Amino acid sequence: MEFCEKCGSMMVPVTLEDGTRVLKCRSCGHTKELSGSLKVSREISKTPRDKIIVVEDDSVPMPITQVTCPKCGNNQAYYWTVQTRRGDESATEFYRCTKCKHTWRNYGG
Ligand SMILES: [Zn+2]
Ligand SMILES: [Zn+2]
Repeated sequence: MEFCEKCGSMMVPVTLEDGTRVLKCRSCGHTKELSGSLKVSREISKTPRDKIIVVEDDSVPMPITQVTCPKCGNNQAYYWTVQTRRGDESATEFYRCTKCKHTWRNYGG
């Protein structure tokens, strides 16, 4: 049993036009939302597909591998891998030349 917080009269459960269940004062018309009937809004978080993560912070230590830079011919580059969301694809390798900072992607092979 609920009583109106404004006038102290007994409140009765009513259903509004939009389906919301509330308690309504029979005396003054004051309404109060029924606990548990709150509308739940779901947040759908979208993740952009095929987002290429390029590390721009040079302060992050990255392993160096022997690979020839297609731009300047230097044979050392930092490398890191990015796992794509699709399960049928393996991790994509990225390289960054230690000399000219050219960044490219290894298309497997
Ligand atoms: Zn009332
Ligand atoms: Zn290079």
